[in-house]
Amino acid sequence: MTSPTLTPIEDTTVIAIDGPAGSGKSSVSKQVARRLGFGYLDTGAAYRALAWHALAHGADTSDSTAVLDVAGDFDYAISLDPDHYWVRVGATDVTEAIREPRVTDAVSGVARVPAVRRSVNALFRTLVAESDRPGVVVEGRDITTVVTPDAPVRILLTADPAVRAARRSAELTGHDAGAVADALHRRDAQDSTVVDFLTAAPGVQVVDSSDLDFDQTVDAVLDVVRTVVPPQTGAPHGR
Ligand code: C5P
Repeated sequence: MTSPTLTPIEDTTVIAIDGPAGSGKSSVSKQVARRLGFGYLDTGAAYRALAWHALAHGADTSDSTAVLDVAGDFDYAISLDPDHYWVRVGATDVTEAIREPRVTDAVSGVARVPAVRRSVNALFRTLVAESDRPGVVVEGRDITTVVTPDAPVRILLTADPAVRAARRSAELTGHDAGAVADALHRRDAQDSTVVDFLTAAPGVQVVDSSDLDFDQTVDAVLDVVRTVVPPQTGAPHGR
């Protein structure tokens, strides 16, 4: 087999990982980035930060026009360092606040606005191009298909719906497990009307984490990376 042609953004190799909520995407992508010496870009954080910003302005996040109005002065920054992750809107650190259930409930409303998606996608490509690392693990819902469809490594990280709901419920201690599962399935249903992140596009490799623990899932993703990007093209692949 001949080596694949790498098509980096500028000189940065992209590892694109999509998947639904509770698939382990964020924590796995962050750890894969650490192991490769790559940057880590959480694209969902941009949509969450915009939802937070919209709520802070009292905007109705189910109204596209209201979302676009507040998007005009949305000043957003994110760290691509997997060991020092933060998200800011203006001068406010919103790293924790964007995980609050009220933001999670509002995020699908802002994410379905096409102009918002175009704008954040351009921002994601710029962030990757400006990264000072040899590569960036970019995770989200439409990274393999829309944001970086030419990435040399494209993975769909899946897990059974019941497993995903149980994981999310374990993360959100103190919340009713049934309510957490309902919210997760409702968000998946809303999000999948905008992008299909439950089926792999042609050329996208599926990693099913249903029966894998965290370390096994990280290893499964790294196995895919190694089949495509030889170790010498990136940073160390050590354990
Ligand atoms: O991944 P996370 O759960 O933080 O994503 C939050 C929301 O952002 C998703 O529910 C979805 O509405 C939106 N999203 C998206 N496209 C992406 C990443 C996230 O629409 N690439």
